[in-house]
Amino acid sequence: MKILVLNCGSSSLKYQLFDMTDETVIAKGLVERIGINGSRVKHKRAVGEDIVREGDISDHTEAIKIILGMLTASGTGVLKNLDEISAAGHRVVHGGEKNAASVLVDDAVMKGIEECVYLAPLHNPANLAGIKALQRSLPGIPNVAVFDTAFHQTMPPEAFLYGIPYKYYESNKVRRYSFHGTSHMYVSQRAAEMLGRPIESLKIITCHLGNGSSLTAVDGGRSVDSSLGFGTAPGILMGTRCGDVDSAVVLYLVQSEGGTDRVSDILNKESGLLGVSGVSSDLRDVETAADRGSERAGLAVSMLVRSVKKYIASYAAVMGGVDAIAFTAGIGENSDCVRKGALEGLEFMGVKLDGAKNSSIRGCEAVISAPDSRVKVMVIPTNEELMIARDTLRLTKK
Ligand code: ADP
Repeated sequence: MKILVLNCGSSSLKYQLFDMTDETVIAKGLVERIGINGSRVKHKRAVGEDIVREGDISDHTEAIKIILGMLTASGTGVLKNLDEISAAGHRVVHGGEKNAASVLVDDAVMKGIEECVYLAPLHNPANLAGIKALQRSLPGIPNVAVFDTAFHQTMPPEAFLYGIPYKYYESNKVRRYSFHGTSHMYVSQRAAEMLGRPIESLKIITCHLGNGSSLTAVDGGRSVDSSLGFGTAPGILMGTRCGDVDSAVVLYLVQSEGGTDRVSDILNKESGLLGVSGVSSDLRDVETAADRGSERAGLAVSMLVRSVKKYIASYAAVMGGVDAIAFTAGIGENSDCVRKGALEGLEFMGVKLDGAKNSSIRGCEAVISAPDSRVKVMVIPTNEELMIARDTLRLTKK
């Protein structure tokens, strides 16, 4: 059974075609600058050279037609015909409270995603456009929506409510949703597999540290707390997002900078590693600048590390212990400095890193704690697309 997974942004589209008999990726790629001059498709196959196509692409429907054309092209295609694709899985950023799990797309689901546009105005419209475009191009196949928020719907009210008047939750569903749920679910399940223990018996803290970052407390396989919120800026310091800030700071900026749009840009696009270091939102650049003596770059890294440490300790407290801490995404998979810094001082909780192992691990699965560490520390590259393909298979298998 072959499954196409789509992850649509407003002007981009990432895709992967899986053969679910052995979960291999047959082809994958990225379409950039949809609806903007200079569109580009980069198409990779399991075997053979990458194929690049340049030329304007007006919308997601055209992008999908081009991808389907590449998948079936004579000579370079990986499919004989499109009938081989049994189903499509779509990443949808916001499912609100209604969607606590992946679902087969029907009219009611589409309406539900539309109702969540006010919660994710940049993402949900693009996700809807992707589903509609695929429905037009491959009308015969089922579509499954997999929500970034779904995994966190198991958080208890004391974790998801804010200390503001309850009516804002009742009337407008103002609450913590958090995101990256598909990644946290994948990494926590993989951690349990690597430990050879049932996930139901484990307390795991998953640290998804990329440009956007979040930590999640996973107790018995269920998300019980997570560091992103109603929006995507709270929690730990990120590439350009501020992480936790006092509401008084936000109010002060609204007053002094003149308006919410400007402050939204400050907190989401000009803050974080970039805002503090003044160098870059990319940790590699910030680490290099710190090594060359930039105090502010060093400070940005210290703030990131400290915020990760605080969340790890607080989530251990929330769960009454922790069996494993798993690092994933660009920073979590690659930065031994951030991993080391975040865990330093947590020996009192039973965390003991194997320094040499930690320094040697980049972008691959490994246990990096010392053999006698009570808490296992792991690096697990995330695979949200595989998770989406698995859910799509489960919901569409006859
Ligand atoms: P996104 O949230 O956009 O998917 P990624 O998960 O790709 O982001 O993470 C991007 C971050 O990972 C950047 O800050 C980048 O500097 C960092 N990163 C990637 N490789 C390394 C590395 N070898 N060392 C340190 N940081 C790295």
